[in-house]
Amino acid sequence: MTLAGKTAIITGSNSGIGLGVAWELARAGADVVLNSFTDSEEDHALAAEIAKETGVTARYIKADMSKGDECRALVEQAGVCDILVNNAGIQHVAPIDEFPVEKWDAIIAINMNSAFHTTAAALPMMRKAGWGRVVNVASAHGLTASPYKSAYIAAKHGVVGMTKTVALETAREPITANAICPGYVLTPLVEAQIPDTMKQYNMTREEAVENVMLTRQPSKEFATVEQIGGTAVFLCSDAAAQITGTTISVDGGWTAL
Ligand code: NAD
Repeated sequence: MTLAGKTAIITGSNSGIGLGVAWELARAGADVVLNSFTDSEEDHALAAEIAKETGVTARYIKADMSKGDECRALVEQAGVCDILVNNAGIQHVAPIDEFPVEKWDAIIAINMNSAFHTTAAALPMMRKAGWGRVVNVASAHGLTASPYKSAYIAAKHGVVGMTKTVALETAREPITANAICPGYVLTPLVEAQIPDTMKQYNMTREEAVENVMLTRQPSKEFATVEQIGGTAVFLCSDAAAQITGTTISVDGGWTAL
């Protein structure tokens, strides 16, 4: 399957899932626009590496997804957007009555509102091109809840709801909107938590992963960024042209429990 000639913008893609999705879309032939709120040599080097390895055009554009005008400017600066992957996200864990207001606001802005702004800016481009894919990276926490993650869960449920609405508003057009709902994914951030968890519980790596980190993931295996990227590529394929307004769980059975 080739996405040659398509351009994908992936928000929050200088690490983790976003970067993995960018790699898989580029391997499938799409030109890619990477993004985060920083503007370092490393950020631009990531785009250069993708371009070198896959032969696509890859750019890095700085934009802070906590700010609506910068979300829209990212899409405008890219100039073209056939595939929009709303992936930028942050987390904070605290009981709701102690949840810092600025953390709540930041999570809602980055994890949910950014998808509103980028989608609003991208849809006219997709309509002009006569083809489009909106892929929102939600979470198993867009479908279920856990304590102490109120802002994250509110934002991810919001993204799932927004996905359905975008799908209905574009239903008669060659545009689809879907959400990928990952369970626990092995990103560098998650990998870095393993030694601490081992120490805290005095467990081996396997015990810490199975019994603490993956308690809700029946497969007892992390999903990989390549698997999330592969799911995004599938949603961009012709086979997925009638899949719209829905969620795809990549969670090792979490939401089947
Ligand atoms: P990560 O921290 O590696 O990636 C988050 C990305 O968002 C980074 O590139 C970061 O630079 C970017 N970002 C953060 N604030 C930003 C801002 N203000 N403006 C622009 N970019 C910003 O984490 P990840 O695990 O790769 O998470 C990516 C997405 O996947 C998030 O939406 C997260 O909620 C979701 N998710 C992750 C997991 C998991 O287990 N890792 C599970 C389910 C869903």
